[in-house]
Amino acid sequence: MDKLTAKFDNILVMGKSGAGKQPRIDILTSDLGMKQLSTGNIFRSFMKIFKNEDYRGNTDKFFNSETQKFIPDEEIKNTLGNTVNSKIIEDFILGLKAHYFVSNGYYVPDSLTNQLFESYFSRSGYRGMVLDGYPRTIDQADFLLNLVDKKNTKIDLIILVENDDDLIIKRTMGRRICPSCGAVYHLEFKPPKDDKFCTKCGTEVILRSDDTEEKLRIRLEEFQKKTLPTLRQLEKRGIPVVKANGNLPVFTEEAIRKSLAEALKSKGLL
Ligand code: AMP
Repeated sequence: MDKLTAKFDNILVMGKSGAGKQPRIDILTSDLGMKQLSTGNIFRSFMKIFKNEDYRGNTDKFFNSETQKFIPDEEIKNTLGNTVNSKIIEDFILGLKAHYFVSNGYYVPDSLTNQLFESYFSRSGYRGMVLDGYPRTIDQADFLLNLVDKKNTKIDLIILVENDDDLIIKRTMGRRICPSCGAVYHLEFKPPKDDKFCTKCGTEVILRSDDTEEKLRIRLEEFQKKTLPTLRQLEKRGIPVVKANGNLPVFTEEAIRKSLAEALKSKGLL
């Protein structure tokens, strides 16, 4: 089948964690010449900076469990003193915070997520992006719609990748990611080289630290509680929602492209 051809400003790809968003995003970016912007990947890149420093101290003291908030950055900096390289201290603190939320399966707070998202989205000129995993809350959706309005651009459509929780849990356990370039694999559906190495950069692939059944169930709950209402809100604001089956009987690039094409056509978007 021919590649998809269409011209969009920006597309949102939504779906539960592990629903099968990445294979759809791969087709959209390669066929439509768009780029992926994933808040999950952004957080993981800061988490890598935090982990690379190999900080031995206890990080719990930076989090106030009563207010459920981190103490101010200045206080964290003072406590860290010169145990962390001063050139990367801001990124280290961001990584430390992201690590706390992501590794527990919780959503990162909106203020931090919105601020980071905007800084990356602005680099694209607010266009040509497939937004992956953002927005996930109503606050983030409001922030995004205000931003695109202000920048005279738009969100053309949402692709909602649908899948059942039980299948997601089974499949997520086979997911592997490249800790270096962020490429995503699946031991059964898209195996890395020799079942071990990233085909793009050769690094040994790993299981995501939040890909345990317990953490995944927390993420599925977060989706139900926060992201589904967000999706409804975006639909109410007039953005078409295109449903894509995340569990195709045949799992080839062609089959995914065909299913995407049919879904887009049914909404008059192709
Ligand atoms: P993902 O790679 O999209 O599954 O994201 C991994 C983790 O990053 C999520 O489970 C959240 O902890 C965090 N995260 C990613 N995007 C967002 C977002 N838009 N809002 C809040 N947390 C997010």
